[in-house]
Amino acid sequence: MADDDADVIVVGLGVHGSATAASLARRGRTVLGLERFGELHERGSSHGRTRMIRRAYPNPVWNGLVDRAFDGWAALEQETGQTLLHRTGGLYAHAGESQLQGPGCVAVDSREEFERLMPDFRVPEGYRAVYDPNAGVVEASRALTAFRSVATAGGAQLRFGETVIGWESTEAGVVVQTDAGEYRARRLVLSGGPFLGRLVPELADLLEVWRILTVTVPAGQAIGRPPGLGAFSVDRAEGLVFGIPDADGNGVKLGVDARELWDPETPVAPPTGAEVDSLLALLERYVPGLELRPADAAACLYTMTADKRFVIGPLASSPGVVVVSACSGHGFKFAPAVGEAAADLADGMARDDLDFVSTARRGI
Ligand SMILES: Cc1cc2nc3c(=O)[nH]c(=O)nc-3n(C[C@H](O)[C@H](O)[C@H](O)COP(=O)(O)OP(=O)(O)OC[C@H]3O[C@@H](n4cnc5c(N)ncnc54)[C@H](O)[C@@H]3O)c2cc1C
Repeated sequence: MADDDADVIVVGLGVHGSATAASLARRGRTVLGLERFGELHERGSSHGRTRMIRRAYPNPVWNGLVDRAFDGWAALEQETGQTLLHRTGGLYAHAGESQLQGPGCVAVDSREEFERLMPDFRVPEGYRAVYDPNAGVVEASRALTAFRSVATAGGAQLRFGETVIGWESTEAGVVVQTDAGEYRARRLVLSGGPFLGRLVPELADLLEVWRILTVTVPAGQAIGRPPGLGAFSVDRAEGLVFGIPDADGNGVKLGVDARELWDPETPVAPPTGAEVDSLLALLERYVPGLELRPADAAACLYTMTADKRFVIGPLASSPGVVVVSACSGHGFKFAPAVGEAAADLADGMARDDLDFVSTARRGI
């Protein structure tokens, strides 16, 4: 490619880089997307078939971004003619107080109500819950493909298997070096997921990378499908358990937010037999009666901030560079809204509604 290769270079084509490339391409910007691994790689955070979506968030400051995400998924479904969301309702169990709130969310504290709302989910003794009627399941791998196809249909060039090894701001914009060449653009979006701290050293201390395990059991059972089972979580001191029902043949998925630090440059170790057994035991406890084998277990990476808020915005030291870390184990659902936000910021627009997740609030 020649000089001035693109209006915007997007580094990292997980769900947020892909959504950003789609948003920019829709606006007619020329986009070059660079991804170090292959199209379906499992070294980041965006692979796998499903993710949870919910309106229940612990602080109303999130509600606007949640609205934009739901609207964005509906628009992407329309644009691509695909079903990307299944509304199943969600029941979020907690032992102490819960801050979860959001449009339509209600507190539930009787066993009769738990069973009426989600008969296949066993809320632990002594727990209460928040019910979110709008929660559901995102078709994650379909969504990733959808964003990329919108991006390429709009003229974006997406290059896989090319690693960015450095970047610098110049008077004219940015220069990006890869293992295959050098590219120039007006603006740069860095959406490197667990590797973002390597691309932006100012972020390294803010972002921890955790190894996370999930297990998925066979689809099509009488138990585990909506409406008997919706999205759920159980807040435990040892780590939040999250569950996703078998919507549309994707199987029942369960995972645990356990803090096991991991160096993303080392391929994440697959779950051991003992780890799989322990996940299945949790599944048996919270969704009793499921056929648990054959189980499909996977390991992937969370990028975590201490307050679980994202880091999105331009860098004070390089205003033409926008960083995007919509992370902490709950970022996927926001992809259409995050892609739109990153595109706005790359276009130089202010997004004051994002102050609560901004780079500025972290002094970066
Ligand atoms: C097990 C699990 C369950 C989850 N469940 C949910 C859920 O239910 N609901 C929800 O909303 N969210 C969930 N999340 C979180 C969500 O999936 C992530 O927040 C989201 O996928 C992060 O996307 P990303 O694009 O920022 O990062 P990634 O998907 O990691 O993408 C970053 C990309 O950048 C590339 N890259 C990095 N460095 C370079 C470089 N130097 N050169 C080129 N490319 C580079 C990487 O290879 C990678 O492909 C879950 C995450 C996991 C792991």
